[in-house]
Amino acid sequence: MVPRVADPVFFDEGDLVAVLTTEPLGKCLDYKAPEGGCFLGAFVEVPLGPRRVLGLIWGKGEGGYDLARVRSVTRVLDAAPMADAMRTFLVRAADYTLTPLPAMLRLATRAPGLADPPGPRRVYRKGWAVPDRMTDARARVLAILADYGGAAFTLSELADLAGVTTGVVKGLVRQGAVAEEEAPRDLPYPRLDSDRPGKDLAEDQRAAAVRLAAAVKGGRYGTTLLKGVTGSGKTEVYLEAVAECLRRGRQALVLLPEIALTAEFLKRVEDRFGARPGEWHSGVTQTERRRLWRMAGEGGVGMVVGARSALFLPFRDLGLIVVDEEHDSSYKQEDGVLYNARDMAVLRASLSDAQVVLASATPCLETWVNAEAGKYGRIDLTSRFGAAELPTMRAIDMRAEKLEPNRWISPTLAGAVRARIERGEQALLFLNRRGYAPVTICRACGHQIGCDQCDARMVEHRFQKRLVCHQCGDTKPLPTTCPSCKAEGRLAPVGPGVERLAEEVAERFPQARVVVLSSDLFASARALKDKIVDIAAGGADIIIGTQLVAKGHNFPLLTLVGVIDADLGLQGSDLRAAERTFQLMRQVSGRAGRAEKRGEALLQSFQPDHPVIRAILSGDEENFWRAEAVERQVAGMPPYGRLAGIILSSPDVAQVFDFGAELSRRDAPLRRIGAQVFGPAPAPVARVRGRHRVRLLVKGPKGAALQAALAEWLSQLKLPANLRLSVDIDPQSFY
Ligand code: ADP
Ligand code: ZN
Repeated sequence: MVPRVADPVFFDEGDLVAVLTTEPLGKCLDYKAPEGGCFLGAFVEVPLGPRRVLGLIWGKGEGGYDLARVRSVTRVLDAAPMADAMRTFLVRAADYTLTPLPAMLRLATRAPGLADPPGPRRVYRKGWAVPDRMTDARARVLAILADYGGAAFTLSELADLAGVTTGVVKGLVRQGAVAEEEAPRDLPYPRLDSDRPGKDLAEDQRAAAVRLAAAVKGGRYGTTLLKGVTGSGKTEVYLEAVAECLRRGRQALVLLPEIALTAEFLKRVEDRFGARPGEWHSGVTQTERRRLWRMAGEGGVGMVVGARSALFLPFRDLGLIVVDEEHDSSYKQEDGVLYNARDMAVLRASLSDAQVVLASATPCLETWVNAEAGKYGRIDLTSRFGAAELPTMRAIDMRAEKLEPNRWISPTLAGAVRARIERGEQALLFLNRRGYAPVTICRACGHQIGCDQCDARMVEHRFQKRLVCHQCGDTKPLPTTCPSCKAEGRLAPVGPGVERLAEEVAERFPQARVVVLSSDLFASARALKDKIVDIAAGGADIIIGTQLVAKGHNFPLLTLVGVIDADLGLQGSDLRAAERTFQLMRQVSGRAGRAEKRGEALLQSFQPDHPVIRAILSGDEENFWRAEAVERQVAGMPPYGRLAGIILSSPDVAQVFDFGAELSRRDAPLRRIGAQVFGPAPAPVARVRGRHRVRLLVKGPKGAALQAALAEWLSQLKLPANLRLSVDIDPQSFY
């Protein structure tokens, strides 16, 4: 289904056109062009059986059958036709991830109300009045409006989000507490002014900005690793590349890990360019999503800031993609279409004569290797901006510390925290474990409470007063008797989560103001953002945080980072365990001392001589990467070899193993390209939501045509009805 160059760009009424729909069909369908004709790439609605579905004019129809029976395109939607480069991108991304093209088109059309007719429509915003009487339902509506700031909603969206009937919203409209407006549909975004002066750049920053801007000016594809320690001004630098892109009249996309999409970043863009960019992530209303989707296609938005799926917006003329914190694992989509936004950004840019900037203090090994090999350019920013200096780092040898049972803060760390509080500075205690305790055990029989649906232990969340399965989200109350031996009152928590750590902190530092930053403790993204702003302004003395705090936030008063368990990430057998730990520890430590005061990072470890811990402390990053690269090369692992994960799942355990075994027997197509298949083996999490999971791992040489071989291999067997199979190219997690 590759687009053909020879296809005409316009089809007259009655011409035969091939339409790609979002329906799971193996091919395009033929229709007749509608009254008024249509452009190649136009978004259309077509009849399919009794329904009407979304489609895209893909090329000339095939013909070769009774033309009298071909139906007409119902109508052309009010949206700019998809650019050729975007269509090619969808095809290539589909091929790379082994995803059917219709699923790719679905990903590229995830804007609600796309097919609505043009013209003004009603939207709902925060009103001015206070309702005469407050009910639960009304309060929920007002809370949603407050959560999203001044955003506009459709009636049904607002009602759905608040979990109320549309009548409740209408009632609030009559009271003036909700404003109802006729909105002109989908206005372009305010123009960003790239000629406003930016900050005065330091010498190395300026050199970096000039290089990136020159690359953008060149109007060709290229990828650059912008590697800079946290606080070195990477954002300032890549905003200059954005400015150059805007000056050339092209569009710029900045991808951020979802959680880092803070008001802080938007404000920096506004300071620099005098207006806000388009925003694309899960916290944006449907009305705004639709507007942005359309404006991306029409060129009515210059800069977009978004989470990974923003990569599938139908940009008219994309000139630059920045992937900030490029090592972040949230760029990998782990369900539905399995893709890595970082790699897809490079693919998309290469098809659109666009530049890519991969920004990180701790790039992933793949990126580091590509830069070493000269495939990517590389720019280093080695010092923090201004007076800020990198934190000093030290390990606390836990073998030498005296700790009482069920205590996790060593005397050394506690002393350092106390010193900070006395000076009016902040301390961050980092523990990458949500909840109260990771394990609940029966002291009578040793039974550990697990999830009924999954092969996983349940995690106690004392704040919610429940046990939660982190695999499937299932919850149950904490039992008083052991489910196995029925002993009463013998269940005990084992190990710390952030909530339990908070208890210890409260006991030891009763005067300190303590905040726990964990994604599950906040009702909304807005509430979390507010808390972060409050902390930055000095509203806390001790911050206890999970992974969440590692990303991008600036806390000027923070001068101490204490890592409770630096060994935590090193235990798994994961290919990336060392790399992940290295990145996470460096990122977290980088939170300390971002302003004038020098920061310190203390890592509690039982194995301070472990090579990874030593590399983290010494700060000799190049050596760490070099050593990691050699290890991967010897093992033939990515980026020196290729991997694909196959995950099979079924309620029937025998069926899933039999199918896996049959696949592994028929490995001829894989052997032809020099690839091997391992497994089937039970997945590390062998059961999720009642489905048994089995994994196979395909390992092939670098440069082999892996996807084609996989496609041939998998097509040999027909999937039984209740068995699911997904292919994960370049897997990041192996659960
Ligand atoms: P990074 O993205 O590398 O972590 P940032 O771009 O966020 O670094 O910069 C860190 C802090 O230093 C920010 O508060 C930023 O505004 C400030 N900063 C960086 N460069 C400059 C500059 N040239 N002039 C003024 N402030 C700067
Ligand atoms: Zn579960």
